[in-house]
Amino acid sequence: MASKIEPQPGIMDIDLYVGGASTLDGVTNVLKLSSNENPMGPSPAAKEAFSRAVHDLHRYPSTDHASLRTAIGDVWSLDPDRIICGVGSDEILHMMCQAFAGHGDEVIHTEHGFALYRISTLAAGATPVEVAERDRMVDVDAILAAVTNKTKLVFIANPANPTGTFLAPAEVARLVDGLPAHCILVLDGAYAEFVEGYDAGASLIEAHPNVVMTRTFSKIYGLGGMRVGWGYARREIIDVLNRIRGPFNMSSASLLAAEAAVRDAAYFAKCRTENARWREWLSTALAELGVQSDTSTANFILARFGSEEEALACNEQLKAAGIIVRHPKGYGFPHCLRITVGDESACRRIVHAVGQFKGLRT
Ligand code: PMP
Repeated sequence: MASKIEPQPGIMDIDLYVGGASTLDGVTNVLKLSSNENPMGPSPAAKEAFSRAVHDLHRYPSTDHASLRTAIGDVWSLDPDRIICGVGSDEILHMMCQAFAGHGDEVIHTEHGFALYRISTLAAGATPVEVAERDRMVDVDAILAAVTNKTKLVFIANPANPTGTFLAPAEVARLVDGLPAHCILVLDGAYAEFVEGYDAGASLIEAHPNVVMTRTFSKIYGLGGMRVGWGYARREIIDVLNRIRGPFNMSSASLLAAEAAVRDAAYFAKCRTENARWREWLSTALAELGVQSDTSTANFILARFGSEEEALACNEQLKAAGIIVRHPKGYGFPHCLRITVGDESACRRIVHAVGQFKGLRT
């Protein structure tokens, strides 16, 4: 008989996830640009749907999320029977590890990949395998070289976080073609909607039983507080995930708000246009101040400074100006700051603050 209480192997290797900060001591007018949230908030229709939910709070929510899945299917021309909804796309990523990877299995993520891939891998008792990127880009050849007969899952985000870089769909297809049949590619599309004309990998799923696409309502739809995400894959995979999903995982308010949000095409288009416009403005203005970034396809940019010391000093100056951004040291970018694309006034405010910082140093 075991003599003490111990968690499963791997769990104590998990570093707690650190979200973007949202407060600064002594500052009231805080500008939060640390969590890639939509500065315009959700569609008014989503807010209205949320208010309606208040009348039925005593009722359990739907277990199969049929109405939201139908709406997503209508809007993105997908089969609702191949969709699963989760408490944020986090839950789908987590379920993928729980269902398909365990002790002795390997799960690949890339050097600068989203922290949850490693967390969910360890939580499932599997072994995370980190693969190098090339110039802050997912490197398909490096991933394929790291695949073994123990590899069960490969996680990539496209666009990637925190780099904002985009892997061409032909490269993603090459990755899928090179994977053995026992290995599933999880294509995390948390920022996919910001890329006009990109299907986030949905069409790959028609031809490949080993591809899963995940998406979220937290970013372009401005519903991070409601925790709604979804996955899309062949029925065989969705069937597996549904067996481990909590039957009432989504609240009724979240389901209603997300359904209204996804059906509001005009608001969606406006958010995408505004983001593209201010992202371009922000990256150009920062480059003029000597702060470079890769071309971002998401709703943030990864601003590169000359050194960690300079990035930290700028971060302090931004905090003094009431602005919170992300210092992505844990992602292998100690010399960078990740800045969410805000609205016009937010972009002007941060460029002004960085300009003052640069001015002080020259
Ligand atoms: N994937 C990536 C790449 C992300 O950046 C995030 C949010 N930070 C998520 C997934 C999870 O988002 P959510 O659980 O809110 O859907």
